[in-house]
Amino acid sequence: MSKKIFAINAGSSSLKFQLLSMPDESLLVKGIFEKIGLKEGIFKIEFEGQKEKELLAIPSHQFAVDYLLNFLLERKLIASLDEIDGVGHRVAHGGESFDDSALIDEQVLSIIEKLSFLAPSHNPVNLVGIRAFQKALPETGQVAVFDTAFHQSLSEAYYLYPLSWDYYHKYGLRKYGFHGTSHKYIAQKVKEIWEGQGEAAEHLKIINCHLGNGASICAIKNGQSVNTSMGFTPLAGLMMGSRSGDIDPMILPFLLEQENLSAQQLSDVLNKESGLLAISQLSNDLRDVLEACDRGDEKAHLALNMFVNRIAQTIASYITDLDGLDALVFTAGIGENSAVIRSLVVQKLNCLGLSLNQAANEQGQLFIQNSQSQAKILILPTNEELMIAQDTMRLLEFK
Ligand code: ADP
Repeated sequence: MSKKIFAINAGSSSLKFQLLSMPDESLLVKGIFEKIGLKEGIFKIEFEGQKEKELLAIPSHQFAVDYLLNFLLERKLIASLDEIDGVGHRVAHGGESFDDSALIDEQVLSIIEKLSFLAPSHNPVNLVGIRAFQKALPETGQVAVFDTAFHQSLSEAYYLYPLSWDYYHKYGLRKYGFHGTSHKYIAQKVKEIWEGQGEAAEHLKIINCHLGNGASICAIKNGQSVNTSMGFTPLAGLMMGSRSGDIDPMILPFLLEQENLSAQQLSDVLNKESGLLAISQLSNDLRDVLEACDRGDEKAHLALNMFVNRIAQTIASYITDLDGLDALVFTAGIGENSAVIRSLVVQKLNCLGLSLNQAANEQGQLFIQNSQSQAKILILPTNEELMIAQDTMRLLEFK
């Protein structure tokens, strides 16, 4: 029997939601509450081919959840609240406590709360979202889906930093990795595609490039994360829209002293004022950078080159980690939509035997490698909400 499952992503001033019918995976309703807590909030919702937008004061996440459920009832999108069979919540940080999604109970909530020191701007608001749904739907099963869980399979040699053990023991200072829900979803999809073609899929070596505003790459073997580019925080690894990615760590104490910055100011420099935005001096949005490149803007060109270099370098190093490669995947806003980025990245990997069919790449086909390529290259849309709904179904033991 089909089930209605919410996939929820609560941010500090926003709440994104999708209501999916499972297991057929059809999307019933999707939308977002924005500017929660400010004077004028925004509620956007899409259902049955319609789009609506309302401006209203949204004082709290609890208000948003109650408002949403009332809206669904009033519009007869559901006949009663009993129709909601489960709620899955994206939770930023599961630390070393969760290597899978978890059915929410008081113990799970208290661990998420304890882990807030690792994700102070995310875990507490994720908890607010969970509590709001618990209050509105006290009888409905809820599941936490952690962005870090998929990467708990990393071996010590990959997750430890070459720092004193004390920091690891005291603070859990290690690589956690993020975007796990997306990387896991893609790993499953690739497996399904291989199986659908009657090919062996158990031991696939996959490199998934999740390139959005935030960007990370994951090396996957036997369906498990082997290495990933984000680290203790989502700042590590690739150059991103406004995040620096990896830089010489001694730059940090140098800047603290020279610019007389506070820790928070330095964090803002690295997270909000760096990356494509800093080098192009234009925008953190790749589309703007590409447009400027077309106009011959040199700084935009430099930003593009740096962005591409780091992606290609990371892929190359992960081919080493995996000892080979079966499938290179591009996903998320940039990965799914930018033929230019895919083309520039793969061009840099020609020396490792990867090459594109340019026409397939331009057309955005599923497979975009050419016949000489040593590995398949794919474009796959990610779907974190669907992964959340699937995990919610699995943990609530719905078939
Ligand atoms: P996030 O979920 O991390 O906020 P998305 O996955 O939505 O980000 O990706 C946003 C990025 O995708 C932006 O940098 C945007 O410029 C880029 N993007 C979207 N469409 C295109 C396109 N057609 N060409 C190039 N970049 C694109």
